[in-house]
Amino acid sequence: MLKRFKNGPDDDPEKLSDFDSHGVLRDTYSICELNSMRLMGVFVVCLMVLSVLFSVSLVLRGPPSNGVSEVPEARVFEVKSSEVLAQVTFCCFFTFLKFIASEEDASMSVGLPKDKLLGGLLSAGFDERSCLSRHQSVMYHKELSDKPSSYLISRLRKYESLLIQCGPYSESYNRTLEQLKSGNYNRPSDCNYVVWISFSGLGNRILTLASAFLYALLTNRVLLVDPGVDMADLFCEPFPEISWFLPPDFPLKNQFSDFNQEYPQCYGKMLKDNTAINSTGSMVPSYVYLHLVHDYGDHDKLFFCDDDQSFLKKVPWLIMKTDNYFVPSLFLIPSFEQELSNLFPKKETVFHFLGRYLFHPTNRIWGLVIRYYQAYLAKADERIGIQIRVFDTGTGPFQHVLDQILACTLKEDLLPDINRKQDIARSSGKHKSKAVLMTSLSSGYFERIRDMYWEHPTVTGEVVGIYQPSHEEFQQTENQMHSQKAWAEIYLLSLTDALVTSSWSTFGYVAQGLGGLKPWILYKPENQTAPEPPCRRAMSMEPCFHAPPFYDCKARRGIDTGALVPHVKHCEDMSWGLKLVDSY
Ligand code: GDP
Repeated sequence: MLKRFKNGPDDDPEKLSDFDSHGVLRDTYSICELNSMRLMGVFVVCLMVLSVLFSVSLVLRGPPSNGVSEVPEARVFEVKSSEVLAQVTFCCFFTFLKFIASEEDASMSVGLPKDKLLGGLLSAGFDERSCLSRHQSVMYHKELSDKPSSYLISRLRKYESLLIQCGPYSESYNRTLEQLKSGNYNRPSDCNYVVWISFSGLGNRILTLASAFLYALLTNRVLLVDPGVDMADLFCEPFPEISWFLPPDFPLKNQFSDFNQEYPQCYGKMLKDNTAINSTGSMVPSYVYLHLVHDYGDHDKLFFCDDDQSFLKKVPWLIMKTDNYFVPSLFLIPSFEQELSNLFPKKETVFHFLGRYLFHPTNRIWGLVIRYYQAYLAKADERIGIQIRVFDTGTGPFQHVLDQILACTLKEDLLPDINRKQDIARSSGKHKSKAVLMTSLSSGYFERIRDMYWEHPTVTGEVVGIYQPSHEEFQQTENQMHSQKAWAEIYLLSLTDALVTSSWSTFGYVAQGLGGLKPWILYKPENQTAPEPPCRRAMSMEPCFHAPPFYDCKARRGIDTGALVPHVKHCEDMSWGLKLVDSY
């Protein structure tokens, strides 16, 4: 059975006609909206008919004398008119019910999702056609793994209002920008900003943007996104009305490539050189560069201390470069604790919710996603995603990686074994079909596994199809089509029912988080040998923070930050990394 349209029994993709030039399904909701309007129309007409009949009956009855009608005919008319009224009321009510039922049927027959706004996570104020994925993704994804808290929803709506007040070219923005141009300032500004610099691979960028957005939410700042070379081609605008992109005339834009640990306005360097005025000082810099890249030093890491947050609170412009999902360490900052717990009662939903709120593929990418899905994945009984990322040693294919993938998927019962002694499966009848979506820079793993299932029957009789959308051979930067394929593949992985990912890969983390999936993680091979065990199930769907600080800000000494609270633990795939989990 197709699982794609979860709310309707009739899942025939042929019924979903009406595609646009990218092959993207047009707005199916309009059907529902039309029915709602017709329903309202019928109801209003019924009410009008009722009131007219009622007035006519009153006029014909004339004024009662002594409370009793003198004319017998009038009494007959009164009886008749009340009968007619009862019949019309019944008809209206019946028609109303019929329309409700037919509307329900219509929504079922086109597989309309009940909750295109994801339980209030998404704002209703969008032109749906400008970004089809925002509302259509619910038809392809599993349901959200949990309900977003009402507090998170209200904070997101509040953030969207803040954007209207402080967004690019607003009065407050222009004023704060003047302060940036003039250097230091003493007066607190009504709008503060965090500027995210586009940096690193696509998976990293998605995770760091989510981290920067959460930080902006916690500190009441507006997040402005450096579009880099391809951000606008990849992602729809996530906020209604106001763009999240940094305006092209932003004064420091040309200096972003010079920002590093040695940059004079780098917060870590300012602390090291004692040039940052402490929180009791009167002069506050108009901007500070936050270096949160994996090579950052101890002074940069003080960003995760409360005292430093009190200082940074006063700086109107924070410019951030990072390649890390630093959310787990935000949970260890005491002043953010309560707010985070209100926003995310269930800790492992942070990226799942923020990701589904922020990252919507543009129509072009959405076309890549749904064409591939419909062609190769939709009809299978089960979809398995396998994401292969080989670090350090080139892309391969390597025999030990292939052995590891097979060992994991067979051991965990994700894929059936093959029968090498037989050419034809013995049992007849209809068997379950599995579609396996593989992603890798190399085509070698896919070809070997595809051939394996072509050349031999499975022991279970299951039918296994193996698919891989691209094999780009090596990682490329500033190549737009390369990033578009990568984003489409991440998204396709997130639409699977079960996922196998590679250790250390943010590409896989994004897929698992968007899909709400706890993947089986392939351990990182050492010395060109397949590890034993080959993989393990993730504790949570959250990404791993690869370079967290190990510092106790109060005691001013090193500490194991993975052992402080039950919901921040070391990662399965990186012993020094940190990730959010829900304690059991
Ligand atoms: P990470 O390096 O695995 O953490 O993931 P990133 O996404 O940050 O960087 C790797 C980049 O290499 C991706 O953004 C893609 O450009 C490319 N890449 C790696 N694996 C794949 C893959 O399976 N498919 C495609 N299309 N690109 C990939």
